[in-house]
Amino acid sequence: MPELPEVETVRRAMEAALPGRIIQQVDTSNKRLREKIDRRRLQALRGDRFVAARRRAKYLLLDLKSGTTLLIHLGMSGNLLLREPGVKHDHVVFHLDSERPLVFNDPRRFGMVIVLEEGEADENRYLSGLGPEPLTASFNTRYLQAACSNRKTPIKTLIMDGHIVVGVGNIYASEALFQAGIHPQTPAGNLNESALADLVHAIKRILRNAVRKGGTTISDYLGSGEGGRFQQRLAVYGRAGEPCRTCQHPLQSLIMSGRNTFYCAHCQQ
Ligand SMILES: [Zn+2]
Repeated sequence: MPELPEVETVRRAMEAALPGRIIQQVDTSNKRLREKIDRRRLQALRGDRFVAARRRAKYLLLDLKSGTTLLIHLGMSGNLLLREPGVKHDHVVFHLDSERPLVFNDPRRFGMVIVLEEGEADENRYLSGLGPEPLTASFNTRYLQAACSNRKTPIKTLIMDGHIVVGVGNIYASEALFQAGIHPQTPAGNLNESALADLVHAIKRILRNAVRKGGTTISDYLGSGEGGRFQQRLAVYGRAGEPCRTCQHPLQSLIMSGRNTFYCAHCQQ
């Protein structure tokens, strides 16, 4: 599943390629995505011009000169690429006034492409109520401390809640808690300021590194096909039974809120 760093990589690729480009034609498949494709609204984009590519949580927001915004979510398996169309699972194709069209491809169809008219973004149900971006200054120790105060919710569940902070997916949550030395089941309200400061730093460091790694794959989105799913060296995620790289004890796993959770019982207490 594309996580925040991959979506940010897609955003950067789109920001490099799209501003100034004019939509000449829009083709859609007959398949339903997570939300129904609104053909009428998509067709009305003909002649409009891209001006910017933004991101909020894992939503891509492609702004057009008319004030309309394309809200795109990659779901489980979606991708947004500048390449020739005609590949299986190409669901929306924007033909542009440039060589390569913009193609939304999604084999599992949990993604979505929604047209928001000017003003609709503010009250959109996917965008309203989201917590701060993890890589901005508004996600800091004081903020997290207030969010954790008197909460019995396990800390891993809390940092994966998009109302608290966006974009901390399951892999990054396990990795950040390991880096911060915090057991994933610790009740959020039990963590002191210093532990929360470590956690905030760990989340930022991991996501920033992942975004940096993704930067090397931007060219993949601009013509050569696949659109890189980049691999990271993971300390705990997916490594149950293997030795902890810090203490050599075997790593543990458990299920929390239905999600696989990996940790070191020795390093994280
Ligand atoms: Zn360990």
